[in-house]
Amino acid sequence: MTAPVRRGTRIAHIGIAVEALDALRPFYRDILGMPEVPLDDADGAAIAGLAAGESLVELLEAKSPDSPIGKFVSKRGPGIHHVCFAVDDLDGTLERCRAAGLRLIDQVPRIGAEGKRIAFLHPSATGGVLVELSEF
Ligand code: ZN
Repeated sequence: MTAPVRRGTRIAHIGIAVEALDALRPFYRDILGMPEVPLDDADGAAIAGLAAGESLVELLEAKSPDSPIGKFVSKRGPGIHHVCFAVDDLDGTLERCRAAGLRLIDQVPRIGAEGKRIAFLHPSATGGVLVELSEF
């Protein structure tokens, strides 16, 4: 058995809560020149992915007011919702978070919009930023 390749933590995507995908998509796609990447809906949000090198901007539009993005937008308005870091060892990273006493939103990884295993940490654990961890 070969050892797992260590690639190092990187920013996988930045999730931006928007009121309407179609209103913001042209800015990223046409003005900034970021290619669109098809993504599945997740957590009650329609998602537009736009590539910035190996990272993505994910525009998140609530499909209902009581979804997480719907609540976020009605409480705080549109804006940066979360930052996702891809890590070499998602389970090990979550275990280190747990051991450090950090508050987890997802106790075990689940499947996110890119079809990869992900888990969210509570903003109280990370300086007020909602952090998503993802496998590569
Ligand atoms: Zn995300």
